[in-house]
Amino acid sequence: MEADSYRHKGMRRALIKILQQKGIRDPRVLAAIEAVPRHYFFEKAFLEQAYQDKAFPIGEGQTISQPYTVAFQTELLNLKPTDKVLEIGTGSGYQCSVLLQLTPHVYTIEYNRVLYEKALLFFKKYGLKPNAFHGDGSEGLTAHAPYDKIIVTAGAPGVPKSLVRQLSVGGSLVIPVGNEKSQKMMRITQVAPNEFTKEAFSSFKFVPLLGKSGWEAEI
Ligand code: SAM
Repeated sequence: MEADSYRHKGMRRALIKILQQKGIRDPRVLAAIEAVPRHYFFEKAFLEQAYQDKAFPIGEGQTISQPYTVAFQTELLNLKPTDKVLEIGTGSGYQCSVLLQLTPHVYTIEYNRVLYEKALLFFKKYGLKPNAFHGDGSEGLTAHAPYDKIIVTAGAPGVPKSLVRQLSVGGSLVIPVGNEKSQKMMRITQVAPNEFTKEAFSSFKFVPLLGKSGWEAEI
């Protein structure tokens, strides 16, 4: 891993311009992405790819999400510094690092043990302190519920009821829902006790959400 240099900071500023051109507006989200050295998540040989607006393989058949996707989902969360947020699909830890720029109260769960352990080492190395868990997050993380915000970073076949139940009143769930080829970004908000609104945004392509409320029972 290469230290963060002026060159990397320049590449991040260029990436921010691209995200703005694609419609990301929230200055807090743009600042959070500008603050996280995405190249820390890449092998040295792939450094050039770190600041392209593309997803990239992280091993175990999984990917680090495209910066635009991270920005889009984070913008939809509309995080306040007091919000408690659950991320389902820690993966590389990049989205989690962006969330930590916006609130210190981050919970994250990863199904794949190899990626979970790698992410733990990463968090330790950079002094980041999310509450990280290993397991099937397709039904959330009931032990620490409710959450003000929940973000799912893998494509789901539907909206798991258990996730909606773990939202606080006023809280939102941001989740891509669809088939293997394409998923619509959805935001479900609990506007009053047991009263929900559902909004649909543009389409994305994610790796599948696995587990009980995902595409498969086991991995
Ligand atoms: N947020 C990640 C990042 O910033 O690198 C991107 C994650 S990748 C697109 C999706 C992740 O979801 C994979 O690491 C995958 O193992 C994980 N995943 C899939 N099903 C899961 C489940 N039921 N519970 C928790 N994690 C899951």
